[in-house]
Amino acid sequence: MVKPIALGAGIGLLTFLAVNRVDIWPVVLVIGLGGVLYASGITGRLNLASGQRRQASLPNIEFSDIGGQNTAKSELQEALEALRRPQAYAALGIRPLKGILLIGPPGTGKTLLAKAAAHYTQAAFVFASGSEFVEMYAGVGAQRVRQLFQAARNSAKKEGRGSAIIFIDEIEVMAGKRGQHQSHLEYDQTLNQLLVEMDGITTEEDVQVLVMAATNRADLLDQALTRPGRFDRVVRVDLPDREGRRRILELHTRNKPLAPGVDLDAVARETFGLSGAHLESVCNEAAILALREGQTAISSDHFQSSVDKVLLGEKLDRQLREQEIRRVAVHEGGHALVSEWLVPGSVSSVTIAPRGMALGFVRQAPADDRLLETEAELRHDICVCLAGSAAERLLLGEASTGATSDFEKAWEIARRMIFAGLSELGIVQEEAVSADVLYQTVHRIMERERDRVEGFLQSRAPWLETLASRLVAEETLDGNSVRQLMAQPGIA
Ligand code: ATP
Repeated sequence: MVKPIALGAGIGLLTFLAVNRVDIWPVVLVIGLGGVLYASGITGRLNLASGQRRQASLPNIEFSDIGGQNTAKSELQEALEALRRPQAYAALGIRPLKGILLIGPPGTGKTLLAKAAAHYTQAAFVFASGSEFVEMYAGVGAQRVRQLFQAARNSAKKEGRGSAIIFIDEIEVMAGKRGQHQSHLEYDQTLNQLLVEMDGITTEEDVQVLVMAATNRADLLDQALTRPGRFDRVVRVDLPDREGRRRILELHTRNKPLAPGVDLDAVARETFGLSGAHLESVCNEAAILALREGQTAISSDHFQSSVDKVLLGEKLDRQLREQEIRRVAVHEGGHALVSEWLVPGSVSSVTIAPRGMALGFVRQAPADDRLLETEAELRHDICVCLAGSAAERLLLGEASTGATSDFEKAWEIARRMIFAGLSELGIVQEEAVSADVLYQTVHRIMERERDRVEGFLQSRAPWLETLASRLVAEETLDGNSVRQLMAQPGIA
């Protein structure tokens, strides 16, 4: 009622001023600007309202649907007992657990764990992302935090549940260290409001609220957030180990027909360093390949190709010139021979089919996950990196730009060696090593390994020649073909 009266009075006043030849444009401009700001405030609220609609009443995910992550799962389950047996906890005067922070690389299942936690505790589940709270206008972020907590309580009451889980993904976006942002007042207000809401959680409420948050940049978080009484449980969600990867592959092939002979354990062995999200993609891509070929079941070859695709990108129809094809074959042949020489059985396949950014590649078959690396292993890796350009120089007279990324990788490994105390410098601290000393030391490591690689390839030039010619003719060779060639006494 007040709004129409104010609007009428305003229009009347403007007409009166205009009739009396007063310049009304500055006033109109100010009112217009105010209108825009007001409207954006409304939009902000509307956005949040739609965000709130992303409440899943009860997520359909259970802990058994998550592969690996056994430690994270058991830590979480133990922490969630407070929500499952509130009376027992209250009887002993235990304060409620207010927040659980999940820390780990992208795609490792943090969102899945939060959903499974809601299922496990039969709690209402409300999801938000840290970026939804970041606004230019002061106060909007804080208001959204209040609304989020309110939405969680309302949703639990509506569904007749005693608890609610609020999951905030990418929390570092809204809860970074205070005073560091350009528009820090707004950021600080948003974070302060989150702290206030978390401090306000008590056991006396009808709905027990638990905040779960995920980040892969825990170092950016404000310390006030991780102090006891707020996020006092920190659960690490790491990349899955081999057993975890096998379990994840099993979960994501539950609804897919597998051809006889498909060994998911072997796929798990070849996918060291991949996250759950990558593995889901491997399974999906393998099924797509099977469909493209008109097959009714997914074979081992489909898995091999899909691992390559997820690691390196789609196979390209790029037409290389004849000399380029030979150069790539010599380069990849060099990598493969040195890899087999240093670690017999380490080559799974070698190809000169371009994929993603790579013109060819050697697929290594790691026997086991490598969590610790010895000096010898790191030196082997450097040798394999340097072998491509050494092979080109040996057979073609000069190297090419094709080795740029190999050198970057070798350089990075040498740096790791130095700061792990595995170089001639002994145990060193990063800040204490000047750029010049670092350069000289890396350079000496490289020279030594390059000499070794060149010596080996020179003495085995016929192997390299044969391998390169076969690659030009056949495009892809498996590890066994490389090993058979190296076992022929006549060639070397
Ligand atoms: P981000 O940090 O990027 O938000 P996240 O850690 O929250 O990632 P999720 O969103 O939980 O990762 O996982 C993405 C997808 O990857 C899931 O939908 C699922 O298909 C798959 N996935 C990841 N981890 C696992 C796992 N441990 N078991 C089964 N599937 C998984």
